[in-house]
Amino acid sequence: MNTLFKIVILLFLLSSFLYSHSAKKKSLDKHVHGISTLKIAQDGNIILFEFEMPGNDIVGFEYLAKEKEDIKKVENAINILSDYKNMVIPSGSGECQIDSYSANILNEGKHSEFLSSYKFKCKKIKDLKIIYIKFFKNFENGNKLNIKVYGENKKSVYVINKSKKLINVKNHF
Ligand SMILES: [Zn+2]
Repeated sequence: MNTLFKIVILLFLLSSFLYSHSAKKKSLDKHVHGISTLKIAQDGNIILFEFEMPGNDIVGFEYLAKEKEDIKKVENAINILSDYKNMVIPSGSGECQIDSYSANILNEGKHSEFLSSYKFKCKKIKDLKIIYIKFFKNFENGNKLNIKVYGENKKSVYVINKSKKLINVKNHF
């Protein structure tokens, strides 16, 4: 291996380390209570939904749960987050089927965040026009949801509140 190649690899590792570190810190430092985020990303016939939600919005506190009652609240929230139907439902036209999901809590100092993701495989992703947002129905402390849609044909940003039940994603995928 020549020296230049080694340096390039080292720089790459260093930059990816810095990137992942700052990205992780950013999510907990910069979150605003009452505002959750949802990223919707397309990869071919796959659509991925990723939520980041301040603990405040989900269970009403952000300290590490130690009391029985708080632990129960966290477990209950993880259960709700584990079913995509409580969070987002792609309309029937895309013929999307759930493929995998995850739901976790991340504690860091005085703050915590819930993270959940849902991966769907769609038979007719181009026909997917509507995404129903169920998040507010289950988590009443949430006031706003910042949504970024990364479709292969179109990208959009939405900021929605409790009164909004769906977003239109026509021509995005
Ligand atoms: Zn916080």
